[in-house]
Amino acid sequence: MSDRFLEFTQTAFGKQLSGLLGLPQPPRLRRADGAYAEQPLARRSVLIGTAPHAELAGAMVASLAAAGAELFIAPDHTGIAPLKEAAHGLGVALKGEPSGESFAPEALVFDASGIESAEGLRTLFDFLQPRVARLARNGRVLVLTRPPSSLDDIGQRTAAAALSGFTRSLSKEIGRKGSTVNLVQVRRGGEDNLAGTLRFFLSEHSAFVAGQVLQVGAGEGAPATFGSPLAGKLALVTGAARGIGASIAQTLAREGAQVIGMDRPQEEGALGETMSRIGGRGLALDVSAKDAGERIRSECGPLDVIVHNAGVTRDKMLRNMPPHLWDMVLDINLGSIVRINDKLMQDDGFKPGARVVCISSIGGIAGNPGQTNYGATKAGIIGYVDALAPAFAQRGGAINAVAPGFIETQMTAAMPLMTREVGRRLNSLSQGGLPIDIAEAVTFFSSAHSAGVNGQTLRVCGQSFIGA
Ligand code: NAD
Repeated sequence: MSDRFLEFTQTAFGKQLSGLLGLPQPPRLRRADGAYAEQPLARRSVLIGTAPHAELAGAMVASLAAAGAELFIAPDHTGIAPLKEAAHGLGVALKGEPSGESFAPEALVFDASGIESAEGLRTLFDFLQPRVARLARNGRVLVLTRPPSSLDDIGQRTAAAALSGFTRSLSKEIGRKGSTVNLVQVRRGGEDNLAGTLRFFLSEHSAFVAGQVLQVGAGEGAPATFGSPLAGKLALVTGAARGIGASIAQTLAREGAQVIGMDRPQEEGALGETMSRIGGRGLALDVSAKDAGERIRSECGPLDVIVHNAGVTRDKMLRNMPPHLWDMVLDINLGSIVRINDKLMQDDGFKPGARVVCISSIGGIAGNPGQTNYGATKAGIIGYVDALAPAFAQRGGAINAVAPGFIETQMTAAMPLMTREVGRRLNSLSQGGLPIDIAEAVTFFSSAHSAGVNGQTLRVCGQSFIGA
């Protein structure tokens, strides 16, 4: 459903009135208008900097240059030497930051690895503080760092926590311009996998991802090229007849996947329509059927990608919740995912390098009254992907989760007006996300763009104020 308030505040009168009344002025987000380009950052101005003992300058410069970015360095910046050295080695041209207020970079990327103290954080401040006001609308700030290398290293652990606090706070400051701040922790050996993650966070494919932390590790599979990342891949999406699932199916197909959409038998008509729009195939099958795994295996063959999107809510306060509603939600949202994956893992139902994406929810992170059943399943998914990550890594693949916040779907359109309005505005971008925002994150996890990312849950919630 359309966000009428957002549309109103885009008009001159609406802008003036909402300003006078101190109401939010949600920015119009710039979303990707098509498939991944080989160089999604072509001609984008990206200003880069590093902390004094930073280790990621080479990977950062190589990834950004390959994505087509125009790279700028600040002449007065203390971390300029490693950047020049990296650029020289790679044959990449760096431009000096133009002086004056008119230069509005589209992204600011800072390599904060090596910061291990409160004093060290000053370099991050020195780089961003004078520049953040000049960031273009719908701009991006990306901070890179290392995760702590040992649980005993107090300096590293303190700095890592400080950087995530910084990221979340700055993201709340600049969200009103449609801009986002995110933090990427690069494990040792994960440098070669940084390129795809940078493309996601710095492009319009991540328009509704704000204030998040993602880890990139070692692992095979970094792609040589980035266009059509799912060409030749077979992907199954559950709950694909409508809403977020239909958008996921469409976006995977956009990137070249052959898609099988699955939904309950009573949704066969809607499923057929959705699949014929995207050139996919329908499978009328309830995820909670005891033989769902066997049927997927026999009717689809080995999969490259499975997206466990089907989910239901049956809200009641625990004191009023009948056992059948508890059982139903637990089984559809969590039990069936575990059963289907188990079956596919046992019966060679996954191709080597297969990727699994599960849909969690902000409700599983923040908790909601009336959603003990739903919250348990969506939080269970977060633990499940974390626990299963090593098994998928062994097969050269990965399992991750996406946790949507407030997304404009039939489910949220059915909410009472005031609840819906509050739900929409309570995030850094002051608006609900669209199904495509979830689909973009799922597509990232479904493809080799997310090489080295495993066992993680990414919130796609515009940095919801609830459950931070
Ligand atoms: P939706 O109700 O619009 O669509 C869900 C789809 O799943 C439907 O097509 C439905 O028929 C299908 N489905 C339900 N039970 C099934 C079963 N047993 N077997 C096969 N298919 C089944 O919901 P949505 O808003 O598109 O949500 C999709 C996912 O995103 C769900 O897992 C939901 O929990 C999650 N989510 C949504 C939001 C939001 O704001 N809409 C927020 C957080 C998480």
